[in-house]
Amino acid sequence: MKTTRIAYSQRLNVGKYRALAEQARRLGRVRSEVWRRYGSVAGAGLTDRQVRDQWLAEGTHRRFEVLANAWKETVRDAMADITASRESAKAVVRRAVGRHTADPAARRRLLGLLKTNKWSGDAYLARQMRKHWRRGQNHTHNQIVVRADKHHTHVDGNGLLWLAVPGLVRRQLVRIPLNTTVAPRGTLRLILRADRVEVHYQIDAATMKTSQRPCGGATIGVDKGYTEVLTDSDGNHHGARLGRLLTTESDRTKERNRRRAKLRSIANNAARRGDQAKADRISQNNLGSVKRDRQAARHRAQVRTEIFTAVHRVVDKATVVVAEDLTKTFAGRKPLGRDTNRRLAAWTKGVTAEALASVSERRGSALVHVNAAYTSQVCHRCGCLGRRAGDRLHCTVCGVVWQADVNAAINVLQRHGDPDITLRTPHNLVKQIVQTRANRHRSRLPLPDFSPALLSEERIIRKSHPDQV
Ligand SMILES: [Zn+2]
Repeated sequence: MKTTRIAYSQRLNVGKYRALAEQARRLGRVRSEVWRRYGSVAGAGLTDRQVRDQWLAEGTHRRFEVLANAWKETVRDAMADITASRESAKAVVRRAVGRHTADPAARRRLLGLLKTNKWSGDAYLARQMRKHWRRGQNHTHNQIVVRADKHHTHVDGNGLLWLAVPGLVRRQLVRIPLNTTVAPRGTLRLILRADRVEVHYQIDAATMKTSQRPCGGATIGVDKGYTEVLTDSDGNHHGARLGRLLTTESDRTKERNRRRAKLRSIANNAARRGDQAKADRISQNNLGSVKRDRQAARHRAQVRTEIFTAVHRVVDKATVVVAEDLTKTFAGRKPLGRDTNRRLAAWTKGVTAEALASVSERRGSALVHVNAAYTSQVCHRCGCLGRRAGDRLHCTVCGVVWQADVNAAINVLQRHGDPDITLRTPHNLVKQIVQTRANRHRSRLPLPDFSPALLSEERIIRKSHPDQV
């Protein structure tokens, strides 16, 4: 799969911009000529190479006063445009053929003629193509197509990236200062607009770095975990190494603090005895911060990588990611350990929030925040409050044991579009709604409408947040 990337230039000086604009104008005439001569039946079946040979034989190319490569690439590009317009007309005609005849042999014959561009010999097809393939015209006079081997980039002493492309004179390159540090590759399409150049180029999605890959197509709920970064509503766990990374770091920190406390007391005792030299040696050699800080930085980097990778895995399949708003500091849904653990947990929560926002933004998926109150306690199937036992949730009504985090992720997904529980519905009201739904389920009554008329509390909420309905 290919995607187009665009690099923008800085504002060019007048002379340089004019030279490029002039080249684009002349190449626009090349395009117009291609459309005029090959934009209809006459061009069907011709390749851009045949057109080039024809022009070289006739001397047509000399009229345009551009370099050989520039007009050849432009012919290729314009022929591709014509093919695209013809193929879109064919799609309409193929459907018409289906309506025109039910005879399989006749259909096959017509579709075959269409595919091999031999429709003009058949009266019906010729009529259909004339009807649906309007003769096009070139309107492009501000583009220059540059072949992959005709441009190069270099970085100057100030770190500025320059793109060198051919101008109107042989061996005299035009250097364009770019507003990016990523060098464009492959065939380039330069589009001139308002003293700047847009550099369009294609990259293969498969060879792209993860952060540039397009997102998936599903709507996925995620639950933030502790032993893994995220669990999604499909039942997949992402970032399973997180728990071990955090435990290792927490254990190491505790052990180190214990040892340092001991050394500090030895140093203090020495100082009290008057052995200042020993005290200084200990504080210098054993209580420094260089190694400690380096280890902490490495740990932070490992955790960030684990978290971002996990979020990328989710966005690989999701166009909408539904999650709890992790930037909010609620009282934790799960009991937290002693201080080190609490600190690490709060920090990873922040990194996860950052990763969800930034990866979604870069890869074009939408991040939807929902109210996650009680999502870890409610059975996603019947809506009853279940019994938690470790990583299991036992629903006494369904008699089913769910994996707690998967169940939570499904509940989070279901909160997306929940008519009653919005992002700002208070915790106690969520509980009331959850319990009412569970009771209705138990007694098999139809679900009530939690409309403002029924719940005074809800009405107050909606009044104070008119945007939240
Ligand atoms: Zn249940």
